[in-house]
Amino acid sequence: MPIYLDHHSTTPVDARVLEQMVPYFREQFGNSASINHAFGWRAKEAVDRARAQVADLLHVEPQAIVFTSGATEANNLALKGVLRASPAGSHVVTTAIEHKAVLDPLKRLKRQGYGVSVVPVDGLGQVDPEQIAAAIKPETVLVSVMWANNEVGTIQPLHEINRLCKLRGMLLHTDAAQAVGKLPIDLTSTNIDLLSLSGHKLYAPQGIGALVVRQGEPRIRLEPLFDGGGHEGRLRSGTLPVALIVGLGAACEIARDEMASEADRLQRLARQLREGLSQRLTGLTFNGPGDEPVVGLPRRLPGNVHVSFADVDGVALLANLKEIAVSSGSACTSADPEPSHVLRAMGVPETLSLASLRFGLGRETTTEQIDFTINYVAETVQRLRGMS
Ligand SMILES: *Cc1c(COP(=O)(O)O)cnc(C)c1O
Repeated sequence: MPIYLDHHSTTPVDARVLEQMVPYFREQFGNSASINHAFGWRAKEAVDRARAQVADLLHVEPQAIVFTSGATEANNLALKGVLRASPAGSHVVTTAIEHKAVLDPLKRLKRQGYGVSVVPVDGLGQVDPEQIAAAIKPETVLVSVMWANNEVGTIQPLHEINRLCKLRGMLLHTDAAQAVGKLPIDLTSTNIDLLSLSGHKLYAPQGIGALVVRQGEPRIRLEPLFDGGGHEGRLRSGTLPVALIVGLGAACEIARDEMASEADRLQRLARQLREGLSQRLTGLTFNGPGDEPVVGLPRRLPGNVHVSFADVDGVALLANLKEIAVSSGSACTSADPEPSHVLRAMGVPETLSLASLRFGLGRETTTEQIDFTINYVAETVQRLRGMS
């Protein structure tokens, strides 16, 4: 297998997480809604514990956590949930660099008669909070801005955006799939209304995530996506996947304890990769903000390196890098690749976008792997440049 450097796509389940999950597939397989016997009680206890672990990582009360199948569902529940509970013709503000799991639900809502404004970003992929505020209209009910970008790693000034939203009485939703477990998040101090997270981006299994719904007044009104047994405060019907939820809880606890040291380690590895590539190759552009915090706030995800290579064919580049698992700067891997909407929104020229690589370093990435990657990428790019 190639060296795995694609942790923004998904992460392996941490061995400690898996260990805690295993009993809930067989010995303790109960339905957490079964109130008449010990199988149900044990399952309910496990779910309660996990709910508290997730809540603890984000500094919210456990009732705020609504378990979903992942961040895609959480985003759909937040966006469709708020707009469908609002008057017809209500309006939402978002940004050009959101994940498809935000942009596509909004496209559908637009077809159904809701208003959507998309705010641009600068060359580093940063949103200007003032532009968000300026896009708010009388019909606006919701603003949705991702916490950290999954391609170029840009961290948005969410606190400032939230402050401006609150001044105007707006709800704020954030897709924090890349941020939770990587960056310190304290929702009590920010009072952000809705936050989506995904288990498989933080070393929990695929198929589990959550929408965090601010509690207290004024109450957030959300229309559920589907009806059924009324689980999760009627917001998400369906039998809870207990083992997956246990995994998410365990992963959140590990993240709480290890996030800070892990971020330091990942930043060192990212620097090693950037500096190594820069020493070996010319014609590189590193996309997104720098590593250094600005006024104490980090601007970039610790494990993200995004680089464009001048004078290389993007399709040939990826086809010749089979020893490492990375993502390209294109939207798809079809015969006719398109630049990603994120790089386009940042104004990266099309040919450079297509000749870009996203490295996503993670918990099991080693300095030896980075050394190999530097050599391997440098030799491949030099060979491809030599041929053209
Ligand atoms: C991965 C990801 C999603 C989708 O999450 P799933 O849990 O796979 O549905 C949404 N938004 C961002 C920013 C992501 O990185």
